[in-house]
Amino acid sequence: MKSPNFFGETGLNRMAERRTDSAWLETLSNDETAVIVPIWRTRNLIAQNSENPSAVHLSIAHLEDISGKDTHLIFLGYRDEVPHFAIDLSHIDEPHDLPALKEVGEFTDIRDISLALPREDGGLLAYSRAIAQWHKTHKFCGRCGHPTIPKDGGHMRLCTNLACRTQHFPRTDMAVIMLVSSGDKIILGRKKEWPEDRFSILAGFVEPGETLEGAVAREVMEEIGIPITNIRYHSSQPWPFPSNLMLGFFAEAESETISIADDELADARWFTREEMLDEAKAYAKKPHSVSITRRLIAEWALGIGP
Ligand SMILES: [Zn+2]
Repeated sequence: MKSPNFFGETGLNRMAERRTDSAWLETLSNDETAVIVPIWRTRNLIAQNSENPSAVHLSIAHLEDISGKDTHLIFLGYRDEVPHFAIDLSHIDEPHDLPALKEVGEFTDIRDISLALPREDGGLLAYSRAIAQWHKTHKFCGRCGHPTIPKDGGHMRLCTNLACRTQHFPRTDMAVIMLVSSGDKIILGRKKEWPEDRFSILAGFVEPGETLEGAVAREVMEEIGIPITNIRYHSSQPWPFPSNLMLGFFAEAESETISIADDELADARWFTREEMLDEAKAYAKKPHSVSITRRLIAEWALGIGP
């Protein structure tokens, strides 16, 4: 198994087998060593005053100070014997006005600082953000339209309509991302909205009723009209912006003739290994440095196979 990609390590034992035990969760939320990981409108609370940014955790003693009508604790798990809970404070317009949140850090988009974050903080914050976002967008039952309420430590939402009682679980949207090569070259595409010199490997969402390999082949055909073979899985990366799981693949092209068919890409072309390693052009360094894209390109360019 490959080592985890960034955002894939949280340092947590999620204790999933205990989440349905509400009495146990109640005890944990009264444990004075427990901590809260606050989220505000897709942002996480980050301490910026030290040399390196890090996650700010509040003591559970502050729970009453920051709770609102709709807030609820989401049990994330145990880290170093300490119960960790997330809480979404999006209902507050100015969270830094709360005494508990004054001068302890800034609500920050973790994508902007992930390179400097400790790996396990990156994973923990991404997990918190993703599950908080899911609660925000699943307040009503998709089956009957009645309100839903959080259950199982925030890992399920239950429909309040007694005739329905549908259970809704946090969703993860699977996306495939693939490095397509032909001998000593790989193909990179540029989206319409990107700057002229930004290129990346191809990616797309898995559709219902589709295998991962099927999605890889379909996306490549759809975007650049090239049939591929020898599709090999590499590793995965949680990318909770808002709820993706990126599944990385290598594949080989059966033709080098590019035909841009859909309107997602403005350009696509072949890049040699030499070009990818060219420091001045730095193509291999342009993708977000903690992303699986960067890892796939680096492994291919340095000749390390899957
Ligand atoms: Zn319902």
